[in-house]
Amino acid sequence: MSINSKLVQLRKKVRLNQKKVIDEIIRDHSTNTCIFCGSSEQLTKEHVIPQWVYSRCTKRTFVTTTNGASQTYNKTTLPACKDCNSNILGSLERHLKHEFENIDVRKQEFSRETYELIILWLETLEYKFQVLDLRRNLNKVKGSEYIPYIGKMPISMFQGPADTSPSKVFSNLRSSLKALSVKSKSKKLNSLCVLYTKNPDFHFFHSSNNFIFIELAQYGVAFFYFFNRTFDSHESASLAAQEIVKKEYAGKGT
Ligand SMILES: [Zn+2]
Repeated sequence: MSINSKLVQLRKKVRLNQKKVIDEIIRDHSTNTCIFCGSSEQLTKEHVIPQWVYSRCTKRTFVTTTNGASQTYNKTTLPACKDCNSNILGSLERHLKHEFENIDVRKQEFSRETYELIILWLETLEYKFQVLDLRRNLNKVKGSEYIPYIGKMPISMFQGPADTSPSKVFSNLRSSLKALSVKSKSKKLNSLCVLYTKNPDFHFFHSSNNFIFIELAQYGVAFFYFFNRTFDSHESASLAAQEIVKKEYAGKGT
C-alpha cells in the first residue's frame, strides 16, 4: 500500500476518534490506549524520538528544559497500536528516510510532497511531546526548592511564558492531534526551514506548542519548524529560526 493511502487511513482514524482519545488522556494522563486512535488492541511502545534518528549519537539522553531532568531516549515511549505505530507511522518514517538518503540539500530541494510529509512527521513528534509532558510530573522547577504539591503537576503546565492553565494545555493537545488529520500543509510550508549540517552528532531541541529543531547527522540535514507561526517567506522564517538557534547555543555555553 502506498504511503498516501496509509496516511488517508491515519487522517480518518484521527478524525473519527480525536474526541474520545483526548477525553481519555485528560481523564487519565497515563492511560494505556493508543494515543492516535484510542484503540486498546495490540498496543506497542512508540518512541517519542524514533531510534533511527539518533542512531549515530553517542549521548543517549536528552534534558527537558522545565524539569532539568535527564531522559533516556529509548525509555521514552508512549502507547500506540501496532497499526498506527508500525504500519502507518513506520511507513511514513521509512519513506522519509529514503528521501533523505537520496537528496543532498546543498544542491537540491525536496519536492513539495516531501515537504508536507516532513511537516506531518514533525507534527507527530510535537503531539507525542505534548502527551509526554502531561504524563511526566514536574520534579523540580529550575532554580527553586522542591515543592511536593508542584511535584504532582504535569510538566506541560509549566511550559514557557505562555498561558499554561489546564484548559489551555488541553486545547493545545487537541489542536496538535487535529493537525495530524489535516492533509494540506500548504499554509505551513514557509514555517519549515531545511538546513545542511556537518555536525557529526544528533542534536535536538523542542519547545511545546512552539517549535522544534532536529538535526539528522547521518543524512546531513536539519529541520527547524514553527508549529503555530506562519511566515510570508522562507527568508523571514529562517531569520526567526536563526535567532532561536543562536540563543539556544549561547544558553548552553557552547
Ligand atoms: Zn492506533
